[in-house]
Amino acid sequence: MQKRIGLCLLLCVLLLTVYPLGVHADYTLPQFVRIGLMYGNGAPKSVVLESVNGFQIGKYDGREFSLNQETDKKKLTVSMAEDGISIADATGVMLASALKSVGIKPNASGKEQKLKIDGVEYRGGVDCTADGDRMTVVNVVFLDHYLYGVVSREMSASWHKNALKAQAVCARNYVTVHLDKHASDGFDLCSGVHCQAYSGTRVETEQSFAPVDETTRQVLTYGGKLAELYYSSSMGERTEDVKHVWGNSVPYLISVDNSYEDTASVTNGIWSGTLTCEEATTIMRNKGYDVGDVKKIEVLEYTENGRVLKMEVTGSKGSKVFQREGCRTLFNTVTKSQAFTVKPIYEGGQKIPSDVQITDGTKTGSFPVSSLVILSATGRSNVTTALITVSDGVTQTTYSKKKADEGTLTGFRFDGTGWGHSVGMSQYGAKGMAEAGFDYVEILLHYFPGTNLENAY
Ligand SMILES: [Zn+2]
Repeated sequence: MQKRIGLCLLLCVLLLTVYPLGVHADYTLPQFVRIGLMYGNGAPKSVVLESVNGFQIGKYDGREFSLNQETDKKKLTVSMAEDGISIADATGVMLASALKSVGIKPNASGKEQKLKIDGVEYRGGVDCTADGDRMTVVNVVFLDHYLYGVVSREMSASWHKNALKAQAVCARNYVTVHLDKHASDGFDLCSGVHCQAYSGTRVETEQSFAPVDETTRQVLTYGGKLAELYYSSSMGERTEDVKHVWGNSVPYLISVDNSYEDTASVTNGIWSGTLTCEEATTIMRNKGYDVGDVKKIEVLEYTENGRVLKMEVTGSKGSKVFQREGCRTLFNTVTKSQAFTVKPIYEGGQKIPSDVQITDGTKTGSFPVSSLVILSATGRSNVTTALITVSDGVTQTTYSKKKADEGTLTGFRFDGTGWGHSVGMSQYGAKGMAEAGFDYVEILLHYFPGTNLENAY
């Protein structure tokens, strides 16, 4: 740690010396990014690499590659052995062994620099590092080539180009701001939705390149710094202020109009789902909130945009209040956004009218059972039973004194709008704006008010 602090100080001094005042060193983009494909529990013991033009074998020091040897073999197997990582060709001939890590790039350059890792094609190279008896597999790829894959995964490449360009800028900002997200795992970002969805060239089409190429080096800034840009699929009529989701206030992550989004027609734009009491109880217990058997789920407070701000779950042993994003993530097998209502589900209740219809022959009035009195030969009395039965001798109707006999609580029904965290840019909203004629800069400045589009270097 001492060493690291020393290095940071040295870097700061260097930066102060090199960059004149007014130049924003914060906007420096990485040339390459390191994307974790397989790691931790998903780390493999071996991977098969394929490249039509053969490979360069060497070593990655972070994002820098140094070459040791070239081979025209089109298929290599990288495996974890007792003494470290070994590389063999398709016939089993060993090219290298006992390595702690190995960097392998396809023999090609520019956009043609592609290789397959276990059958899935990626741009750039691969860095395999020993981790116990398995290997962490990282794709080291040009920033914009990574963005080809991200933009096409995060939005369909068939969408309007201005929506894709807005997405490209968002994704570029995101990766640059979050370069240290997986620092302890040995890479920058993972390839899952935890960071940004990325699956190499698999979903790329001819339309995937221009939105990235035409915005290359463009970033959104606020107050002289790179803005932290967030986006999610759909958000209903308005986006949400970040303070109601993650708790902190950010001047450009406030609630804005999202009326260009056609929420009703998008996947999970309008959703509903149910949980049984047992399921809710299990989820609570598994997440470490043992309130006993869940009896009640109640929204205590909504934001001005109709999102749940506080929600209480009550069980046989106590209750627990959840706030902000926690209200969405708690039951996220059902709740797709923070904008929802929750209602109890009762079974076995009596579906009978609670009011009695009375007529004097000309007018008809409706009266609740509890307000009725009985007149009989012995006098007047209130209705004391829960049910009364009225008969004309032919038909017979039963009325309940209670509003309804609700029966037994069996679960909860959730009805909601939008899909995702609802902070920043709605992807379907951006699509709608692009189709309505707005360009990508207008889209970005709408969802991130007060930011500037600038060229990074
Ligand atoms: Zn991640």
